[in-house]
Amino acid sequence: MSAERDLDNLLENILLEAKSMANADAGTVYLATATDALRFSIVLNDTLGISQGGKQGDPINLPEIPLFQENGDANLKNIASCAVHRSETIVIDDARASDEFDFSGTGMFDEMLGYRSMSFLTIPLKTTSNKTLGVLQLLNAKNEQGEIIAFSDDIVMLIEALASQASVAMENRSLLEEQEALKKQLEREVDTRTEEQKEALTKLSEAHIILKELNTIDAITGILNRQYFDEVLDQEWRRARRQGYDISMLLLDIDHFKRVNDTYGHLAGDECLAAVAEAVDQMFNRPSDVVARYGGEEFAVVLPYVSADNAQNLAEQLRKMVEDSVYKADGHDLAVTISIGTATMTPDEENAPRDLIGRADQVLYEAKASGRNRVCQYVPENKA
Ligand code: GH3
Ligand code: MG
Ligand code: MG
Repeated sequence: MSAERDLDNLLENILLEAKSMANADAGTVYLATATDALRFSIVLNDTLGISQGGKQGDPINLPEIPLFQENGDANLKNIASCAVHRSETIVIDDARASDEFDFSGTGMFDEMLGYRSMSFLTIPLKTTSNKTLGVLQLLNAKNEQGEIIAFSDDIVMLIEALASQASVAMENRSLLEEQEALKKQLEREVDTRTEEQKEALTKLSEAHIILKELNTIDAITGILNRQYFDEVLDQEWRRARRQGYDISMLLLDIDHFKRVNDTYGHLAGDECLAAVAEAVDQMFNRPSDVVARYGGEEFAVVLPYVSADNAQNLAEQLRKMVEDSVYKADGHDLAVTISIGTATMTPDEENAPRDLIGRADQVLYEAKASGRNRVCQYVPENKA
């Protein structure tokens, strides 16, 4: 249940972000069902004041869209279904001028509610192995005067990048859930087996090896651990390289953290780490953001399609937020500061994730050396 609600929240955030990026009047997220259909998951329409599905929207009362016709052929008449079958984005500038798709349902909807559905942007959401997750659809882009216009090529590219990140986030989320379930099951098995004395001991250690491999979450902070971070960064890197956008990274380290341990004890230190991790995780909460514990009191943030300037601004906001916060840890009020190094790269055939990490690390060191509680940005030499 809660996993489902979690996914709903994620989808709603994605849809809201896409809608505002494109300044669209309306948007829909469809989810693929187990029975080869698309189910309306969230439906928003600003002009008509419709908010259905998602976190607190009204219930959705729309029929599912079959992906196949009764004779088994692909359903290519419905635009969302067609986008799934073609595995590509479909852009329609004016639905009334298009005879490729069946817009009769849309026509009825428009007539009933006095609406005019004109421009459509329909993007399939797929996993890396091309499994269909659903469809993201925006309707009626608006210009600054509020007039309905077609979706521009730039916007289409931007929303495609977002959709692609969204797919990764959805896929990662379901992987994490699977792993959590497996972990719980293993833990239960371990419990039962401890009763079987000697034999159990060997099985226990085997189970622990598997548990360790399955582990993607850091136990103290509850965010991604280093090992899993490296995997996710690799994945994001390849994706950004294919699509040609920037990746920014923040590497941050708590200042004088040893003093926290020395003064208040390790338990307070642990709780302080968890509090800072939560603050970072909450600040970077777009579906595509990756937040991980990188080392002892070091955290890494990866921000796909975020420019160097934006990364610098976000890092400064984060630094300020931590500086202004008081964290409760083991009964003490703690104030800490952080130093941050930021770096941005466009992945290509000549660079690799370790270059990005190396650059962020280098400027983090500079931030430390020049007095701590500050942000340093890596500036490539040819741009300096
Ligand atoms: P700087 O400003 O140069 O980063 O100073 P610092 O004291 O933060 O850095 P230093 O590397 O000297 O010490 C890091 C400390 O972080 C030492 C270590 O005990 C503590 N630490 C690392 N991991 C954990 C952890 O999981 N729990 C707790 N409580 N402390 C940790
Ligand atoms: Mg430190
Ligand atoms: Mg450190």
